[in-house]
Amino acid sequence: MSTQFDFFSKGGCLLCDEIGNNFPLTVRLGLCEDPHDNILLETNNFVFLRDISPIVPGHCLIVPKQHFPSFAKIPERWTEELQDFKEACELLISREYQPPLLFEHGSGPLAPRSGACVHHAHIHVLPLTAPVDRWMGEIGPVRQVGRLSPYELPDRLTFTDYLAYQDQDDLTFLVVEIRTRPPCQFIRRRLAEHLSLGDWRWESAFARGLPVVPRHSTDTFSVCSATAATH
Ligand SMILES: [Zn+2]
Ligand SMILES: [Zn+2]
Repeated sequence: MSTQFDFFSKGGCLLCDEIGNNFPLTVRLGLCEDPHDNILLETNNFVFLRDISPIVPGHCLIVPKQHFPSFAKIPERWTEELQDFKEACELLISREYQPPLLFEHGSGPLAPRSGACVHHAHIHVLPLTAPVDRWMGEIGPVRQVGRLSPYELPDRLTFTDYLAYQDQDDLTFLVVEIRTRPPCQFIRRRLAEHLSLGDWRWESAFARGLPVVPRHSTDTFSVCSATAATH
């Protein structure tokens, strides 16, 4: 297997490429023939995709179809759709694996400081437990906002770069004042360390030839995907 992969976007954003079927990475890497096959759930404005380099089986991403730097910047009228969609995605992962944790490295419009890897809004959804809120404390003061989603907060539009995390009890933790700039893919890196995985970089999983898509769940997911398409 070749160890050289081209991770550059043809159109300027890897996730826009994926959603718009513009030389998408999943196809270039031979993970699927049609990037639509990688969509597990879909609504008018959002898709739920498998992470192409999952840390654990069931690692997926909630992504807006249009390009926004972070979920804090999506239009107000989409908030309810996002809430419902987020719950459907959590339910799907809970049924297949276990209740997931969710996190986002929210990118600001200028030079991103949050550690995001791709500057198209995406929420990581992972079926595992980890003390993410504790790690976030290394970056800046952690604000706990109870069961309210960070994307429903009245001051969300003022967020530039931030870290958001939702635990298995639906409690939300935020760092909106970044005091120490986190390294690239900060939470992903910490999760990989927490699980004693040797390498945290999503790009490396390919280079090492690891299984990169939880293919064993394809059948179950496609049923859910079909259900969601009518919703
Ligand atoms: Zn994009
Ligand atoms: Zn990411």
